Amino acid sequence: MIVGADGSRSVARATVSPTGGHFREYPFAWFGILTEAPPSADELIYSTTPDGFALISQRSETVQRMYLQCDPNEDPNRMSDAELWAELQRRTPGVELREGPIFQRDILRFRSFVAHRLLHGRIALVGDAAHTVPPTGAKGMNLAVADVVLLDRAIAALLTEGDDQLLQAYPETALARIWKAQHFSWWMTSMLHAADGASEFDDMRRMAELRSVVESEAGSRYLAEAYTGWPLA
Ligand SMILES: Cc1cc2nc3c(=O)[nH]c(=O)nc-3n(C[C@H](O)[C@H](O)[C@H](O)COP(=O)(O)OP(=O)(O)OC[C@H]3O[C@@H](n4cnc5c(N)ncnc54)[C@H](O)[C@@H]3O)c2cc1C
Repeated sequence: MIVGADGSRSVARATVSPTGGHFREYPFAWFGILTEAPPSADELIYSTTPDGFALISQRSETVQRMYLQCDPNEDPNRMSDAELWAELQRRTPGVELREGPIFQRDILRFRSFVAHRLLHGRIALVGDAAHTVPPTGAKGMNLAVADVVLLDRAIAALLTEGDDQLLQAYPETALARIWKAQHFSWWMTSMLHAADGASEFDDMRRMAELRSVVESEAGSRYLAEAYTGWPLA
């Protein structure tokens, strides 16, 4: 039994799913920074503004991770540290960001991908080798762990009882969760990012969609359920 757990540049994928997969690219990217600074808030801040999206996340008491929506072809060295801090602050009104030295910059392109096949004979794909999601829903690691839990059960049944039913069912069982997470990640991305060329109607509708989530208990519950993940039945 071989498990292709070799990430988004998987070599196992070519054998298991030679026809590739379902793919979508987005006209957004995130400009990510790591800074040596104290936290600016106790919780994650997701902020959408007319100038674009920003995410303030916490790593530790001394290191923080922050992101700005940017063009996928943005040069990570174009802006000075001062310009980056000004842009982050402009996109997080009402919060006073605590600044520090920026020691890492990277551009994260947004892609959705699901391989056409997850199993070929005794070779299975898990995690980013099988699928990738845009980072907005923070589902990448969550999905990878869920695949592994399912496959662990399947391999245990195969090795201890000679029963391959769970292994044969692995693609269908895993894909049910993977596509829900794909939808959630696409939805969070579309709802929180201002698209270039969007009309006033598009922007007003997007704000109403966001209000439908934050002002509705049912809407907030769906977001919380999908964000934290579904039970591994
Ligand atoms: C900047 C960034 C931020 C992220 N933030 C989040 C987040 O907040 N929440 C979240 O859920 N997800 C996040 N993700 C996504 C998450 O990191 C991935 O979805 C997750 O790591 C996938 O796990 P994996 O084991 O499938 O692949 P990987 O973590 O990529 O691991 C694959 C491993 O296989 C090894 N490998 C590759 N090829 C070979 C080979 N030929 N032989 C041997 N070994 C090989 C690699 O060296 C690597 O160690 C983020 C990703 C990035 C890039």
